[in-house]
Amino acid sequence: MSATQTSERVVVVGAGMAAARLADEVAGRGGRVALIGDEPHAPYNRILLSAVLEGTHDPAALELGLRDDVDLRLGNRVVEIHRAEREIELADRSRMPYDTLVLATGAIPTLPPIRGLVQVDGRLHQKVHAFRSLADCRRLDAAVPDARTAVVVGGGLLGLQVARALSVRGLEVEVVEGGEHLLRSQVDEKAGRIIARDLKRLGATVYTGARAVRLTDAGLVLDNGFTLDTDLVVLTAGGRPSTALARRAGLDVRRGVVVDDQLRTSDERILAIGDCAQHRGRTTGFVPPAWEQAGLAAAHLAGEQVAYAGTRSVARLRATGLDVAVLGDPTTAEGEVVEVTNPVVGSHRRLVVHGGRIVAGTLVGDLSRVGLITQHFDRGTVLGTGEPGRLLMPERTAAPAVLADDAEVCACAGVSAGRIRACASYDDARTTTRATTGCGGCAAVVASLVTEGALA
Ligand SMILES: Cc1cc2nc3c(=O)[nH]c(=O)nc-3n(C[C@H](O)[C@H](O)[C@H](O)COP(=O)(O)OP(=O)(O)OC[C@H]3O[C@@H](n4cnc5c(N)ncnc54)[C@H](O)[C@@H]3O)c2cc1C
Repeated sequence: MSATQTSERVVVVGAGMAAARLADEVAGRGGRVALIGDEPHAPYNRILLSAVLEGTHDPAALELGLRDDVDLRLGNRVVEIHRAEREIELADRSRMPYDTLVLATGAIPTLPPIRGLVQVDGRLHQKVHAFRSLADCRRLDAAVPDARTAVVVGGGLLGLQVARALSVRGLEVEVVEGGEHLLRSQVDEKAGRIIARDLKRLGATVYTGARAVRLTDAGLVLDNGFTLDTDLVVLTAGGRPSTALARRAGLDVRRGVVVDDQLRTSDERILAIGDCAQHRGRTTGFVPPAWEQAGLAAAHLAGEQVAYAGTRSVARLRATGLDVAVLGDPTTAEGEVVEVTNPVVGSHRRLVVHGGRIVAGTLVGDLSRVGLITQHFDRGTVLGTGEPGRLLMPERTAAPAVLADDAEVCACAGVSAGRIRACASYDDARTTTRATTGCGGCAAVVASLVTEGALA
């Protein structure tokens, strides 16, 4: 099947980060594509919501920008898939035909089991906020000026971003994490403790090993007996793939919508990408895999022979004053551990090395070598015995000078140093390669590579 070559209609459910990338790629190849999104906004960069909350970015700057020939329909929810007729049904009861349907429905925030979060009318208590969409962000933003204190429930990447943004806005922030340390899905206890220290230094209070159990007039009650008197409660305790539509349509759904290496669901006319998809038993929850899957799905629809083999994971925390990068899964990776911890300055760097190759890593407080370490991790470079240790020493030379052309610079959009060097300007790099348009963590490296390319 080659939907875009035969100008068949591709319909995408969801107008989020994966959908926007897919639509651009399909339309760029001359295909017909429609995006149906239930949010009222054009696709935007969700990663930067905490920057909007912090006050450093205007919501308009988050817009991802789509080609003019993408048929974009907003504020309408797809409620049913009629597979036999190859039609979707919208909340307004209208129907739309498809040749290929792509599910890009993302994830929905998990509601932790805390009594009193939800009112009798089914809505969240007025003090309680989710943080997944621009609407959530605006509601929280509007509540900040009248608040003095906030409790963030969940000490993962999202919780830390929100905690940091609220403390920059001047609130007294407390973070409640049920696990024994912060970022427990990504890092070990030692790194978690250093991050907690950094967060405290930046003005927040951290409670680990404590669960919030009840919201009362007196405040948020924890299972260790504490009650946190607070004006705001922000829920950042994770999310799960949004699969209800796929499930109702009878597709194979486990934790996510199950897809094969061509991103096809159990119905070959329906693909799934991004946070809602489950590939080889894994769901993701980050932009790099969502964008890689979108690119591959577009190529598949154009009739190219492609196979998705899973995305190597590199996660970066986007929060002012908190520098964290996680390569692979350091909590489960097996191998020899090389680490350097400096609790005085608040840095912790740890590599897991197997057969001379870096198989996982954690960098906290000092990301000066992240480019080079990621390059070795990506390529599976076999390192000499002293090299992992040397990599953990602080950077002395400018990072871009040592980056080979095929080294990945932007993990979100999968862009190499060579492609950036070939760009005429920073803006050219942004528009032609999409580097810096995800988490933005590569901006400084991109700027210096562009200058380097211009001088060459
Ligand atoms: C605050 C925040 C910070 C983040 N920070 C990072 C980060 O630093 N790095 C990183 O890699 N990732 C980060 N993420 C995760 C990243 O945003 C997601 O992995 C990415 O958005 C996934 O893209 P997606 O298109 O699958 O889902 P989404 O971007 O969530 O888009 C899904 C869209 O589909 C819509 N939808 C769902 N069902 C329907 C329906 N039936 N009909 C119509 N529309 C529907 C949803 O409303 C939503 O608009 C962050 C997420 C949040 C919320």
